[in-house]
Amino acid sequence: MSKLVDIIDSLQSQRCVICRKRLQRGENGLCAKCVAGLPLNDPELWDGPQFVDAACAPLVFSGTARDALTRYKFSGATGCAGVFGKLVAECISRNLAGKYDLISWVPLSAQRRSERGYDQAMLIALAAALELGDVAVDTLRRTKNIAPQSGVDNAADRRANVSGAFEPADAELIRNKRVLLLDDVITTGATVSECAATLIRGGAAGVVCAAVARTRRFD
Ligand SMILES: [Zn+2]
Repeated sequence: MSKLVDIIDSLQSQRCVICRKRLQRGENGLCAKCVAGLPLNDPELWDGPQFVDAACAPLVFSGTARDALTRYKFSGATGCAGVFGKLVAECISRNLAGKYDLISWVPLSAQRRSERGYDQAMLIALAAALELGDVAVDTLRRTKNIAPQSGVDNAADRRANVSGAFEPADAELIRNKRVLLLDDVITTGATVSECAATLIRGGAAGVVCAAVARTRRFD
C-alpha cells in the first residue's frame, strides 16, 4: 500500500503545482509559464509585526499563488511543500541570512493537525530548512484550539483570537537564540506576532519570520 502511495506521489510531483500541467525536462515543481506569472512580492522584506524584527515573503497572496496555497492548505496537496519550501528558502537567503540561529514554524493545534492530517507550516519549514542545509525544530505548542484566523476579519479581532494561544515547547532550546519562524501566509501578522511574543517571553533573543506569501488585504 505504501508503495502505491509513493508511486502516486512521484507521478504527482511530475506536474506543475500551480497549473497541474506535466512538467518538461529541467522544470522543477513549477512550469516555466507559471514561474513567469508568479505574483512577486516587492519588496520581499519588510519590518515585521510587533515583536518581530523583520519579515520576508517571496510572493503576494493573490492569483496563482493564492490558488496553489489554498489547495495546499485545504485539499491535502502536500506535494507542494517542497516547491514552497524552495521559494521561501531562496527568499530567506536573500533577506535574512545571518539573522537567526534556529528555524521553526507556527504550529497548528494537535486537533487541527489530526483533522487535516498534516501541519502545512511545518512541512514548509522542513523543506525550506533542507534547502538551506539546516534543520527545522519544534519551538512552540498551541495551548488552545482557536477559531481559524481565515474566518476572523479585522486586525484587532485576529490579535484577540490568538492571544495566549501558544507556549514554548522547550525553554532550553530557545534561550538566547534568534528564531526564524515560518508560516504559509502572513496576513495581519497577528499570529506570528503572538508566537514571537511567546518566544521572547520564554527567553529567545529575537524573532524574524518568513512566509511563502503575504496578503495585501490589510495594508
Ligand atoms: Zn504551471
